[in-house]
Formats: sequence, structure tokens, C-alpha cells
Amino acid sequence: MSILVVGSIALDTVETPYGKVDNALGGSALYFSTAASIYSPVNVVGVVGSDFDFSKIDFLMKRQVNFDGLTVGEGHTFRWGGRYHENVNKRDTLFTQLNVFQNFSPVIPKHYRNSQFVFLANINPDLQKDVLEQINKPYLTVMDTMNFWINGKRDSLMSVLRLVDVFILNNEELEELTGTANLFDGARQLIKEGPKALVVKKGEHGSILITEDKCFLAPAYPVSKIADPTGAGDSFAGGFLGYLSTCDQINQINLRRAVIYGTIIASFTVEDFSFSRLKGLPREEVEKRVEAFREMTSF
Ligand code: AMP
Repeated sequence: MSILVVGSIALDTVETPYGKVDNALGGSALYFSTAASIYSPVNVVGVVGSDFDFSKIDFLMKRQVNFDGLTVGEGHTFRWGGRYHENVNKRDTLFTQLNVFQNFSPVIPKHYRNSQFVFLANINPDLQKDVLEQINKPYLTVMDTMNFWINGKRDSLMSVLRLVDVFILNNEELEELTGTANLFDGARQLIKEGPKALVVKKGEHGSILITEDKCFLAPAYPVSKIADPTGAGDSFAGGFLGYLSTCDQINQINLRRAVIYGTIIASFTVEDFSFSRLKGLPREEVEKRVEAFREMTSF
């Protein structure tokens, strides 16, 4: 089973109470691919500038990640800067330099069009829709978004929502989109629009999977040091979809397990800056943590 991801490839400058990195590898597409490729081959569609150092993604090329859909634009790679507070659940965006990402217009290579699983990372919803129009009916489509698009492109966002199977977002985004602070009411409101499931992330408080008639509560895995939360959301999505790509059906139990795999992989991401922790993460180490999680949450 192969997975298609369309999203950002970035150079991040990140400051947290534990340190700082400049122009470190980042972007939703790469965090997602690193996590998802633990389980299945991943096809990436994105754009970098002519300044991009390809040796930074060597580790992904050596795994099952295909970059035939990567375009090199004239100009600089997308750059993002963020600073986390003492409470690492809070961050300020210091700058967003779109550069070549500004005119990103995803073209899905022919040999990617039959990817069975699709992740539409946080990009302009018009482009997300464009991607869906270029591919053959996948087995499962999952989308993400951010406040910027909720405020600026609400109608487009809602029309993509009607076309996907799973919507992953955080509780603040859900509130902004639905106008209700009650997470369950908000989630049910969105499920009526079309997606079969919503995953609502609540940072250190874990996440909730909501389907038409059920909900599943997953706490976050307790890590001793959150060095850098950047990419937690995208690697959660990568673990979620990566795990589902190994399942023979998409049902309630597998969706629940996928939420746990997403949770566990995100817990590794945040233990160090950029991809330092995630990069060489073996499947067995994920399994060990899943087992520890099982022990902590069963009664
Ligand atoms: P997360 O921490 O999961 O929200 O994802 C952080 C990643 O998203 C960083 O590596 C950033 O480079 C990337 N990012 C930040 N802002 C944007 C944006 N406006 N569009 C696309 N990607 C972004």
C-alpha cells in the first residue's frame, strides 16, 4: 500500500526552553513521510528552492520515500520560525517566508495517482481540492488544516471536508471552524458534512477520535522532556496513516489503534529538535512504547 502526501518542505528556525536550531529541516510533508515510511512507501509532492541541500533528505531517500513529485523552484525554500513558551503547548510564529511555496501548484506524477492512502497536509484548501481531482479514487483520504485557512478560506475548506474520509485538527481549530467550544458538538457538526471520522488533538491532553456514533479517548504518552514540539501534529498524522496502511480494513478498532500509533510516534518527535529523534526510529522501538502505553491505559 502506498501513501501520497502533499505539503510543505521547510527550513525551520525554532527556539524552545531547551535550545535553538537555525534552518533545520522541517515542513509538514517531511514530518509526515518520516513517520509514515516506518510502515509503507510514501510518495511526496512538494517544492523546495534552488538553495535546498538534498543531502538533508538522504535518510528519507534511503527508506521508502519517493521524491519524484518534488519540484525545485527558482528562489529560496520555504522558511518558518517559531518560539515556544515555557509551557511548550504555546508557540508564537516569528516569521513565515513562503518563498517558492507561495506559487506552489501541486502536480501529481502519473505513477503517484493510484496511491491508496492520501494525506493533504496543511496547505491552501483550493490546492487540496486540486490534488483530489488529479488522483484516482484512493482507499482513504485524510486532511489537515490551520487557523489561517479557517479564517481566510472557510468555504473552500468546507468543500474539501466534504470529500475526505478523516479530518485531523486541534481543538482550537475545531472551535474556530464550528463556533462551539464543546468539542463533541463541534465534531458531530463537521461529521454531518461528510467525513467518517474526526481526530481532535489536544496537545499534552492527547486526542479524541470521533465517528458518527462512537468516540475514543487517547491520552498523550508522557515523555520526560519535550525538547521541541514542532512536527508533532504531522508525525501524528504519519503514524496514524502509516499504521492504517498496514491494516486489511478501516474499522473502528483499527482507527483507534491508528490514533495510538500516531500518539506514540509524535511522542518520539518531540523528544529532540527537528528530525533528530524520529529519523532513525525503528519499528520495534515504536512497538515497545505502544506496549508501555497499553499497560498504562488498561484497567
Ligand atoms: P506542526 O508542529 O505539526 O504544526 O508542524 C510544524 C511544521 O509545519 C514546521 O516544520 C513548519 O515548517 C510547517 N509550517 C509552519 N507554517 C506553515 C504554513 N503556513 N504552511 C505550511 N507549513 C507550515
